[in-house]
Amino acid sequence: MSAPLYEGKAKIVYATDDPQVYRTYFKDDATAFNAQKRGQISGKGAINCAVSSYLFRVLAQAGVTNHFIEQISEREMRVQAVEIVPLEVVVRNLAAGSLCKQTGIAEGTAIAPPLVEFYLKDDALGDPLLTPDRLRLLQVATEAEVQHLQGAALQVNTLLQAFFNRCGITLVDFKLEFGRDRQGQILLADEISPDTCRLWDQQETDPEKRILDKDRFRRDLGNVEAAYARVLELVTQQAEL
Ligand code: ADP
Ligand code: MG
Repeated sequence: MSAPLYEGKAKIVYATDDPQVYRTYFKDDATAFNAQKRGQISGKGAINCAVSSYLFRVLAQAGVTNHFIEQISEREMRVQAVEIVPLEVVVRNLAAGSLCKQTGIAEGTAIAPPLVEFYLKDDALGDPLLTPDRLRLLQVATEAEVQHLQGAALQVNTLLQAFFNRCGITLVDFKLEFGRDRQGQILLADEISPDTCRLWDQQETDPEKRILDKDRFRRDLGNVEAAYARVLELVTQQAEL
């Protein structure tokens, strides 16, 4: 039997008989704006579990070590147990969200080369954007680890951008989390899903209709479930080719 170790906003983490392996359970719960907005997206847990599983496999095949071991049920995967580095590593290809709010850059503006940003993963502090100096000050990761995270995030971006392009989806931006395994090796962890990526349908030009990610929930745009289901459909088609 396994006991819950930690319940987050979107997933529950369980220990397993093997101390090096955890089981993550994907919930339908949705939060936004640092959990000020709460709701449910029916079927989300299963979709995010499946999408994440596909994407972690695509990345592993391309040599990006990550925590994914296997999907064991509709909403559960087995993963390598890691100690999460309390950083949210964000990569941006097009301007959206907080970047637009904080800089005035228009939504959809191309960002080349892509921007890599580090935010402190701390709900109580509102996940603040870190400067390089603040990163050094906080010491949540060594300089070498920060360099590694930056490189890994860009490599993941190149691979995911190509994959989503084949799906007919533009990868606008996304958030990654990394952790350290028992040996101290850094592994990509957490999830990669419509909760953690901005994804735009390339067949839609309407700036609201094209949104296939959690912005539909954040901005009350409706058809949230349908958008998530569309992402799974396109990813599944592509992954099975
Ligand atoms: P949050 O509310 O922080 O977004 P989630 O519900 O998305 O949390 O996920 C639950 C927790 O599981 C998060 O703290 C996440 O960092 C952590 N986590 C993800 N993958 C792993 C892993 N392989 N080992 C340990 N913890 C993990
Ligand atoms: Mg999360």
